[in-house]
Amino acid sequence: MPLWRRRGMAPEPDATVEASPAPGGPDTRLARIATLTWDGFARDVDACTACGLCRSRNKSVPGVGDTRADWLLVGEAPGAEEDAKGEPFVGQAGRLLDNMLAALGLARGHNVYIANVLKCRPPSNRTPTPLEADACRPYLDRQIELLAPKLVVALGKSAATTLLNVDASIASLRGRVHRYRGVPLIVTYHPAYLLRNLPDKAKAWEDLVLARRTMAREV
Ligand code: URA
Repeated sequence: MPLWRRRGMAPEPDATVEASPAPGGPDTRLARIATLTWDGFARDVDACTACGLCRSRNKSVPGVGDTRADWLLVGEAPGAEEDAKGEPFVGQAGRLLDNMLAALGLARGHNVYIANVLKCRPPSNRTPTPLEADACRPYLDRQIELLAPKLVVALGKSAATTLLNVDASIASLRGRVHRYRGVPLIVTYHPAYLLRNLPDKAKAWEDLVLARRTMAREV
């Protein structure tokens, strides 16, 4: 369950999680996404109707940052503030993420690109369904292809399990270097989780140190 859920609020309507048929069929959609450039990327995401989240989103949240970055950070899905602004990690978890980046000597937009598994907000910040993650996956794959990062940091379980195509806990995945299509990938806790589990910040710092060491070997 995502940890940035505001407690005590009534759940928002979650009318549908069913995919709408892609115009021209699924193969056409995949072929189109596979050839997108950065210029057309956000526009294509914004027009996407591949899952029901298109009906509840305010803004799609394609990703943000330096499109020539060595570092790619991948989170789970936009929350309410991201959905309002169209930019990933702008809420409280985002401020912690900025601090984590600063501790590495990095800053949002400078040699860093930030994306999510889902480009649209799940109602009430619920966990993405497998259908939604599958529908959005071609966008994340294309982003990674266009960016060609030197290192990927998966923030939390959704990002880690989606990118690595495994069903496993963060605890079992962190502490070593994985590969996504040959690119080193480090798993760490989601910033929203860390906000509620402060003692695990020390482990997240270990993960970031591993990421920095791994990057140093790549450049
Ligand atoms: N959590 C995420 O995983 N992504 C965001 O963009 C915001 C919060």
